[in-house]
Amino acid sequence: MRKISLDKLNQLFAEIASKNSLYIPVDTAAGAKYEKYDGTQTMSDALNTTRSAKDFFFPQTENLVDFKVEGKNIEIKEPVNEYEDFVIFGARACDVKSFEILDRVFLADPVDNFYKNRREHGVVVSMACTKPAETCFCGTFGIDAAAPAGDIVCHKTADAVYFDAKTDKGAKLLESLNALTEDTDSAAVDAQTAQTREVLKKLPLAGLDASAFGADKTMEFFNRPEWQTISESCLGCGTCTFVCPTCQCYDIKDFNTGNEVKRYRCWDSCMYSDFTKMAHGNIRNSQVERFRQRFMHKLVYYPTNNEGIFGCVGCGRCMAKCPVNMNIVKVMRKLGGNK
Ligand code: SF4
Ligand code: SF4
Repeated sequence: MRKISLDKLNQLFAEIASKNSLYIPVDTAAGAKYEKYDGTQTMSDALNTTRSAKDFFFPQTENLVDFKVEGKNIEIKEPVNEYEDFVIFGARACDVKSFEILDRVFLADPVDNFYKNRREHGVVVSMACTKPAETCFCGTFGIDAAAPAGDIVCHKTADAVYFDAKTDKGAKLLESLNALTEDTDSAAVDAQTAQTREVLKKLPLAGLDASAFGADKTMEFFNRPEWQTISESCLGCGTCTFVCPTCQCYDIKDFNTGNEVKRYRCWDSCMYSDFTKMAHGNIRNSQVERFRQRFMHKLVYYPTNNEGIFGCVGCGRCMAKCPVNMNIVKVMRKLGGNK
């Protein structure tokens, strides 16, 4: 394990940024967000960023290919397949877990090369939580906010930041920072971890239990009458899907610039009425069906296809951002027997 005193953290950022693009969470009027480090920013102490870190690997929009049609000829320009190396600093345990959930979608056959390239070029430096919020329930899904995953795991105390490399990629980056960091034992980290775990136990949602849901429970939940009442307030705005680190639906569209066609993909939302619109019509015509889809996907369908792993990481963003105060916790309580 290595450490650096807090007053030297910006030197460490400058060193990383001299070789790779570095993104750190910074405070803005709209909450914390990741910015490319340019030597002027200070790392935010906010618990989490407003938008999740999934943008680094699955951006909101991206160009897939450009092509030109002239008569019967189509000229295809090669899609982008090289990306710069980059480092994400300060991702929380829930967001790091979300990468595993996205991996199971985008790295499964057929592999999504756009996503794969970004995953290969990105180094994830996570930050252990010390002050989890009342909306946090990552523990429901077996995530330990005090000991996140990541290529390097960081713990920030009052006067230092501690680094523990967990992968070869992480070890390589940490080794490149040896001149700025020093060897240390894990005493301070162990003490902080134990203290945070005590805080986690006392969170209001600490007892939220997902065990009623999971793989192969489709028939148990699909036709439950509660979907009708619980979905009534949903506006179909899609905010919950856009802030969610694990939502992965997208659309692919062509944009004709007049000179060429740009084929791009952009995030979509199962909460939108035209999400399932096809040539023959729409298979989900009501908001109750769309609402049910989102939560069934996270709590039943995803686990069914992924060895029981849930498609939610308990980050609490949907609780904080839904304009009508609807969220996955309410669904779990209504349908899963939670108090
Ligand atoms: S649950 Fe809330 S955030 Fe999500 S679509 Fe409905 S109203 Fe919007
Ligand atoms: S469903 Fe809500 S709590 Fe779960 S990962 Fe998505 S935004 Fe976070």
